[in-house]
Amino acid sequence: MPSFSPLAAFAEEAVSTAARLVRRIRDDLAAEAFSKQDRSPVTVADFAAQAVIAAMLAERFPQDKLVAEERAHALRSGEHADVAAKVVDYVRTIRPEATPEDVFGWIDRGAADAHGRYWVLDPIDGTKGFLRGGQYAVALALIEGGEVLIGALACPELEESVRQAVGGAGTVALAERGRGAWWKPLFAAGDWQRLRVSPQEDPTQARLLRSYESAHTNAAAIDAVMHALGSHSEPVRMDSQVKYAVLAAGGAEVYLRIPPPTNPEYREKIWDQAAGALVVQEAGGEVTDLAGKPLDFTAGRILANNRGLVATNGKLHAAVLAALKAASAG
Ligand code: AMP
Ligand code: MG
Repeated sequence: MPSFSPLAAFAEEAVSTAARLVRRIRDDLAAEAFSKQDRSPVTVADFAAQAVIAAMLAERFPQDKLVAEERAHALRSGEHADVAAKVVDYVRTIRPEATPEDVFGWIDRGAADAHGRYWVLDPIDGTKGFLRGGQYAVALALIEGGEVLIGALACPELEESVRQAVGGAGTVALAERGRGAWWKPLFAAGDWQRLRVSPQEDPTQARLLRSYESAHTNAAAIDAVMHALGSHSEPVRMDSQVKYAVLAAGGAEVYLRIPPPTNPEYREKIWDQAAGALVVQEAGGEVTDLAGKPLDFTAGRILANNRGLVATNGKLHAAVLAALKAASAG
């Protein structure tokens, strides 16, 4: 059994609570969506999950800062009154006394600056997957001095068909620096089990994960890297940081993010990578950018000093970086 700190136990409780609410909203067909200014979608479930986790954090660790993806202004403005009302209703299923102002205030606790020690939250990573019936994750990490100390991923749709070693009807993965990466069932009872990356050392046998959304990555460049590695397996398309959980469980050897040709200067958001990166590292894997540099979590809300992402089982990391160069795909 793992010996997690109270902070790590809190992270698991927070993402699991939010994931159960998200799943209920989806089952109720209540996940009404609208487009944000960057044209990405946001739903009732994203806001509700952020409010619930921010409220838990405010109660348990009131001094701690939170850096989270969503803001409440579109809910306060009245422009999306129907969404706002549903968000409040769903948060009240957990916190019956909450007023709309409480709920919007919790959401906006996520506006802290990303420096020093802070929690980082993506209330639903893979909102497009959530809306499409694909994968998504509730992702929470604790960062201090640029180091990810804790990473928690609740993956409600991660079924045994995706990866035998990660199981049941939904999985929660938890990593704490120096204490390993573990998983257990999200909705059912079950003990923690250790996550370990694949032992595969042969690049020709590498199995690769990439974004489901073509606009989030460069599929042609990824194919060229696989060719340079000598691997013939078809890349598996999957939304969100669930890819990190599958890699940590040994269900694949390589996860690549190469900025899309339409947006070659894209830089990753910290809430899209922090939790998953620690899960893979603590499972024995390696995570860098396309140039082989470690992810630099000291640059604020965006990984401004890194381009793209390479996560592997460790054994194949050098081979993948070399294949990126050979294919001129970085
Ligand atoms: P994935 O399903 O792995 O592509 O991850 C989903 C995340 O991709 C979203 O949370 C977005 O923040 C992020 N994203 C959005 N646009 C891009 C882009 N052009 N390139 C890379 N990632 C993106
Ligand atoms: Mg995201």
